[in-house]
Amino acid sequence: MNFNNTRVDSNSKVAFEQAKNVIPGGVNSPVRAFSSVGLTPVFIARGEGSHIYDIDGNEFIDYIGSWGPLILGHAHPEVVTAIQQAAKYGASYGLSTEIEINVARLICERIPSIEMVRMVSSGTEATMSALRLARGYTKRQKVVKFQGGYHGHADPLLIKAGSGVATLGLTDNPGVPNSVTAHTITVPYNSMESIRLAFEQFGEQIAAVIVEPVAGNMGVVPPKPGFLQGLREITEQYGSLLIFDEVMTGFRVDYHGAQGLYGINPDLTCLGKIIGGGLPVGAYGGKREIMEHIAPAGPIYQAGTLSGNPLAMSAGYKTLQLLEEPGIYGELDRKAARLAEGFAENARLTNIPLKINRVGSMLSIFFTEQEVVDYETAKSSDMQFFNKYYASMLDFGILTPPSQYEAMFVSAVHSDEDIENTIKAHYQVLNKMGI
Ligand code: PLP
Repeated sequence: MNFNNTRVDSNSKVAFEQAKNVIPGGVNSPVRAFSSVGLTPVFIARGEGSHIYDIDGNEFIDYIGSWGPLILGHAHPEVVTAIQQAAKYGASYGLSTEIEINVARLICERIPSIEMVRMVSSGTEATMSALRLARGYTKRQKVVKFQGGYHGHADPLLIKAGSGVATLGLTDNPGVPNSVTAHTITVPYNSMESIRLAFEQFGEQIAAVIVEPVAGNMGVVPPKPGFLQGLREITEQYGSLLIFDEVMTGFRVDYHGAQGLYGINPDLTCLGKIIGGGLPVGAYGGKREIMEHIAPAGPIYQAGTLSGNPLAMSAGYKTLQLLEEPGIYGELDRKAARLAEGFAENARLTNIPLKINRVGSMLSIFFTEQEVVDYETAKSSDMQFFNKYYASMLDFGILTPPSQYEAMFVSAVHSDEDIENTIKAHYQVLNKMGI
């Protein structure tokens, strides 16, 4: 491991120049460009367990985990075998397979509010389709989302969005028609008062409230006690649907999702990331009575050439099965708690103000003295400090998301040694920066 600040990036630099010629911005998803932290993106050669290796031969302890899916780490042998076995019989048929039923059953068994589920190919498709279903079902048009919440890049939900939109500081979204966003109401996360005002004004027109039950795209921001319950009650009162976007939290914060952890049953749930075991996947599910409005059972159309793809289903099924191992979520929690505790201790020792938000194996560090409870307080983090900190952590071999507005993920295969090495690197970086 490189714990002595010797990272080289000449191959990544060459690759980035080549990529920029043929791929817009040189990347296939904006945050990968590392532009907000002022660095050249790392180009990856391979991953193994909790470690990832770039094309310059640098080794990193990886806390990006493909932005959430890799709860079992890179190239988990049993997941790899499941994919290889499925591939032997063909990559895609565009017709039904039994593995889709297996995954659907497992999701219905595990996520309390889901009675039926439809597979799609990304988290964006899941939220977009859930929203269409909510609008078709309620025959209403308006949707409420939270500032700094990210639900993929479908037009109606790309307003005051977190994740890459926040990272790049984009304030409006060219290409998104006003006529579409006119139906989206945005309010601060964790503010029941704002939600009440929105319902008082538009209640009868609101098809749905969509929420990340643990926000992960403005950095990690946990729901305040009573917030999710408040959303459940007000949506019921006005006949609107409550949509939990669990693309990130599903099977991450708990085997029963955030809804299991907090004991709240939404009407619809969006999933992605972990349920594909690293392959492209998404899903949306919920009450049978609502889900049966989707074609061909009902009139609301949604389809996909690669939906329920056998490779993605096989990787996802194996991942979900492996997550049944007793104690696995307790271990994830223990390791992430140790990491957070180590970071907090380093902050005390170096006298650098920071706040750590954590729910299970998702966590974020904000360089601020304020409690971070919503997008506004997340923005109080000192970005210049974050960027310097980020670059130094990378030089010490610690790969975290290159943005303040993302979550770090601890996986089941991060070892205690990985965690302790990360805490040591963090101390050295803070110590250097504090002088
Ligand atoms: N919803 C949430 C909560 C997410 O974190 C993301 C992606 O990070 C999405 C939706 C979109 O998923 P995808 O990138 O697979 O389209």
